Amino acid sequence: MTVYAPRRQGHECAARGCDVQVARGMLMCRRHWWMLRPSMRDAVWATYLDGKGILSDGYRQAVDDAVEYLAAKEGIASLSGHTTGEPA
Ligand SMILES: [Zn+2]
Repeated sequence: MTVYAPRRQGHECAARGCDVQVARGMLMCRRHWWMLRPSMRDAVWATYLDGKGILSDGYRQAVDDAVEYLAAKEGIASLSGHTTGEPA
């Protein structure tokens, strides 16, 4: 894993296997964010904005769902594997 300190405060995309740096306040990179179903984006925002932000169970659940959805869509089976290849 690369340990570059980003110039601005940021973090890695929440999607599994994606190490794109995204800005604070963004959950994932644009590519992954727009792969989500609209209802998932809504759920993430709704729970994020409900006051407790990332500490709320609802938010974490919404993020979990989104990450699982993307992993399934990209054919990334589990946390144990390190997938570097692009799905065909
Ligand atoms: Zn990503």
